[in-house]
Amino acid sequence: EKAIEINNLKKVYGKSLHALKGISFSVEKGDFIALLGPNGAGKSTTIGIICSLVNKTSGEVKVFDHSIDSELEAAKRCLGLVPQEFNFSQFETPLQIVVNQAGYYGVPRKIALQRAEKYLKQLDLWDKKDTPSRTLSGGMKRRLMIARALIHEPKVLILDEPTAGVDIEIRRSMWEFLTELNEQGTTIVLTTHYLEEAEQLCRNVAIINHGEIIENTSIKDLISRL
Ligand code: ADP
Ligand code: ADP
Repeated sequence: EKAIEINNLKKVYGKSLHALKGISFSVEKGDFIALLGPNGAGKSTTIGIICSLVNKTSGEVKVFDHSIDSELEAAKRCLGLVPQEFNFSQFETPLQIVVNQAGYYGVPRKIALQRAEKYLKQLDLWDKKDTPSRTLSGGMKRRLMIARALIHEPKVLILDEPTAGVDIEIRRSMWEFLTELNEQGTTIVLTTHYLEEAEQLCRNVAIINHGEIIENTSIKDLISRL
């Protein structure tokens, strides 16, 4: 079963910035895949299109067989996104941020509170649940966005450079959390420009450069050829 299927996807920004030049790849259910590539390669654009934050120019995207053109709501329910920028209210607390997000997906409040407790505890944020989020460290803010993305228990979690600017200890604990989440069945896609991060975490890799997929293989295979 395919979690994500991308076919000949193109994105032109403005009149002539060809950010994606017709990429195709798919992600199997249960996979843990890295979109690896240098800055400006087109990684954020790709996941922005999958999550319908960026309009595509042409091509096809399906999430668990739901086309983002004809079945957007069904596709969105399968997806949780952890963006690169902190895009939550700095005045709200972690508990408010996570529970409000549940509201957007129609998760009943009682269940939302149970899940909020579960994920905030797992991500070591429970102590901070009632603290205005502006006072959290960068690593805590990033973990808060992971908890928020999981509140509707999406089948696919997508993370854009999840450990950028996070110190090594926190990075390792995030890696551990993501590995466990994947082992429990969540499909995970992350973008990174660190080969080491892809190697530590992922099973497969798609290397993107100048808007094209130049490799799509297992991490083992990639490393063996370096
Ligand atoms: P779309 O085709 O999705 O509408 P546009 O080409 O109209 O996208 O650009 C969206 C906005 O992002 C524009 O206001 C543009 O100025 C701005 N923008 C331009 N370059 C960048 C960049 N490198 N990163 C982020 N935003 C940019
Ligand atoms: P990556 O995530 O791999 O760093 P991006 O998808 O952010 O790459 O960017 C791919 C290309 O598209 C870059 O040349 C970037 O400057 C350009 N770009 C990204 N977002 C916008 C935007 N909103 N408007 C115009 N150009 C953009």
